[in-house]
Amino acid sequence: MELVQQGTSQGRGRSETMRLGNVHLHIVSDGVYWSDGAGMFGIMPKTEWREIIEPDERNRIPIEQRCLLIETDGNRILVDTGYGDKISDKQRSYLSLKGERRLLHNLETLGVNPEDVEMVVNTHLHDDHCGGNTQYDQDGEPVPTFPRAAYCIQRLELAEAKFPNERTSAVYHREDIEPLERSGQLRVLDGDARLTDHVRVMLTPGHTPGHQCVVIESEGQTAIFLGDLASWPIHIEELACVAAYDVQPLLSIETKRRIAHWAVDNRVLLIFEHHPEIVAGYLHRTEQASRFSLEAVRADTLASGK
Ligand SMILES: [Zn+2]
Repeated sequence: MELVQQGTSQGRGRSETMRLGNVHLHIVSDGVYWSDGAGMFGIMPKTEWREIIEPDERNRIPIEQRCLLIETDGNRILVDTGYGDKISDKQRSYLSLKGERRLLHNLETLGVNPEDVEMVVNTHLHDDHCGGNTQYDQDGEPVPTFPRAAYCIQRLELAEAKFPNERTSAVYHREDIEPLERSGQLRVLDGDARLTDHVRVMLTPGHTPGHQCVVIESEGQTAIFLGDLASWPIHIEELACVAAYDVQPLLSIETKRRIAHWAVDNRVLLIFEHHPEIVAGYLHRTEQASRFSLEAVRADTLASGK
């Protein structure tokens, strides 16, 4: 395992590269946004969660939008696309989201242009995970950002997004999805699926019914990009900690229990999408059945390529 840290620039977030066997895993940020802390910690009292992170004067905490570019055998697969640039000025102001083309800029610094991406996988279709799927063209029409990519999305998630309910309608946007259908770039997945020799997806419901995690395997090593199954380490360290956004909180707990034991048994590297500091780590069991502890992996400890 090897991890190289590159500098931050103008709030665009870090760009880091890990090696997993023969696969390169590039962390590509779509920036950092600020959102109400209660959303992340659900029913946990503020007196407890403010010991994890101190909110700002508007009760907001920083949320990283960490996307993942997987490079294997000449294939480039992008997992999640951040908010992108279509969001309203009002929302952008609330989120304190800075800069344009954040993800695209970070891909460019890796020498990757939008047409080089063969596959996009959305863990789910909440707007902070798929807003960058599409962008406005000169006429203000939303078009796919990655013109050659197949966009791999779970069938159940598409159903939720296209027909949202009162609780979920604010976070699903047709403009993130319909241009992919029109261009013939949508690839609908129905449950667990293998995408390449080294990359597969697992259905991990709870946050949404159609949430999927991405598993990368090479040379006997395994990593998983967790999406919002566990946005921050606390969500998998304490199974009871469930974000307020999860639509099936008890199912979230059962899914997290299953993935946590699998990750411990197989020494799977966990990659976190939203924590501002912790990118990755390995999970260990504790004396309590519903608690695990994360051995966070720092960039400079992963320099050996082993
Ligand atoms: Zn999210």
